[in-house]
Amino acid sequence: MSKDTSCVNCGICCKKGGPALHTKDAFLFEENIIQIQDVVTIRAGELVRDDMKNRLVPLPSELVKLAPAANARPDDWTCRFLTNNNRCFLHGKHPAECRAFYCKEPEALMQLSNEPRLERDKICEIIKAPAWWIELIKTHEEAVNYEELAEWAIKIDEDQEAQQKFIEKVEFDRSYRELVVEKKAAPVEALPFLFGRPLLQTMVMFKLTARPSANGINIVKIPS
Ligand code: SF4
Repeated sequence: MSKDTSCVNCGICCKKGGPALHTKDAFLFEENIIQIQDVVTIRAGELVRDDMKNRLVPLPSELVKLAPAANARPDDWTCRFLTNNNRCFLHGKHPAECRAFYCKEPEALMQLSNEPRLERDKICEIIKAPAWWIELIKTHEEAVNYEELAEWAIKIDEDQEAQQKFIEKVEFDRSYRELVVEKKAAPVEALPFLFGRPLLQTMVMFKLTARPSANGINIVKIPS
């Protein structure tokens, strides 16, 4: 954040969200500067804003990024390492994207887009995570697939089957997370890294929300 002497430390870039991590950021885990609860996975297929196209597009492959504060509102993506006086708590050890980014010269960040990202399997290896974490990720990834969900989301109002399938995935996502914690397969603070954000939270990207119903929940479109 303060790499460039012209940076006035306004904190705006850090309030838009923490950086995606690249392989050159592996030292952050290797040196125990950040822990697993400090990151969140944005999964393949999640809709993200493409600033060049000025619209939401499905993410082609996963990215792991620095997370917001644990108690942040769902729409507040401020990096958890931004201090109250707009300083970076990691300064001197901050991730590659933060070092490259200067808001008045955003092109520098584009150069990093070709650099390999630090993905979940590599992070599991670095932190010597339990061997079963990779299997847990794989099972969840196969069961809760955003490409499939996007197809059902479009027709959720008029297609009862799509509605039912979407609800089953919401229930699976919720109960799978609960089970993992209950069986002590992973701590609750590792869930955003292992499985990304809960589907109950991310479905807003499809302009959907869950409403209680007599049989559990209904998924409905958010009125525009
Ligand atoms: S790591 Fe530091 S520079 Fe990077 S987004 Fe967070 S607070 Fe800002």
